[in-house]
Amino acid sequence: MNQRKQKAKQMMESSGYASQFESDKFRVRSQTNPEKFYIITRTGNGLVCECLDHITRKADCKHIKIVLELIMKNKCYHNNTFRIMERASLELCKFCDSGRITKKGTRKNKNGNVQIFKCLDCKKKFSANFGFEKKQFDYTTITGALQMYYSGMSVRDISNHYEMLGIEVSFKTVYNWVADYSKLVSKYLNEIVPRTGNWIRADEVWIKVAGEQKYLFASMDDDTRYWLASDMADTKFQHNADNLLELTKKAIGKNPTYFITDGLPAYQKASKKVFGKKTIHTRHIHIQKDMNNNKMERLNGEIRDREKVFRGLKKMDTPILDGMKVYYNFTKKHGALKGKTPSESALIKVDGKNRWKTMIQNASLYKQNSI
Ligand SMILES: [Zn+2]
Ligand SMILES: [Zn+2]
Repeated sequence: MNQRKQKAKQMMESSGYASQFESDKFRVRSQTNPEKFYIITRTGNGLVCECLDHITRKADCKHIKIVLELIMKNKCYHNNTFRIMERASLELCKFCDSGRITKKGTRKNKNGNVQIFKCLDCKKKFSANFGFEKKQFDYTTITGALQMYYSGMSVRDISNHYEMLGIEVSFKTVYNWVADYSKLVSKYLNEIVPRTGNWIRADEVWIKVAGEQKYLFASMDDDTRYWLASDMADTKFQHNADNLLELTKKAIGKNPTYFITDGLPAYQKASKKVFGKKTIHTRHIHIQKDMNNNKMERLNGEIRDREKVFRGLKKMDTPILDGMKVYYNFTKKHGALKGKTPSESALIKVDGKNRWKTMIQNASLYKQNSI
């Protein structure tokens, strides 16, 4: 590792040094003067920095190296908030933001040909409609369908809605978008640890899946209302809560200090087994002013209100549940959180005007990089 790279690495490690503040602009704090920031801009020729080093040498300065790291690893923090970055709108490499790209033929889809590019720096190939390859509809139609679906519209409602706008899309196609993108996005988001508080809650809510009554066991962080994990069960009283607690622990990356539930015995056993003795398990019936489990009720209500969504569930193991979690955590503004989404309260922010688009593009990058 050369000196410049080494320096970039050191600066990266102290979070808050670099951040994206517009879709094509980044800010890197000066090491010598903490009051000063350098602005790095994405241009058709790659990244350009305003520092003297870059201006005189025309090569990548340490600030550009930091931004490149940031883009490649998607580790952008600003004021301790994890930022899910907007991808470049310019014709730059979608993986490393290099401007050194070359055209590498086309790929056919129903609307015509899609241009394929190859990056001369990282050698990866990508298409112009990154994250939405091989789709015959544009990203606005697709992400619009996802948002409508999780807001409570059925796939048929959405298909009819689009027909009125002159867009012919079958309800099966809508379902496939919802299922595929929910799976893709939640796999990526599950790797990002939300900043949660000390109180974790769990509860069960009954729902109908393919005409049968099921119980959805769910856990939530008290402070941020972040929906952490869920587990579907056939019965309420016979169900073992271990799996829910394992998933909860993985989601927050630690054992909670306090764990609040109703009186269901399964929680007591699971808390001891999964969280251990240090976690204080409390049944909310014993907490004053918490008689109604209000915080959890809101999430339960959200879930129950999505009756139409669940009616479409064909089996228990479904990406739709994961997608609902994404919708709830990342797009639902919360009155009790001063209009923030649970993810914003948990210090994860999605940049860009279309959040689904930003999440899908980053999830696609994550998927390709993790193979
Ligand atoms: Zn620079
Ligand atoms: Zn590249």
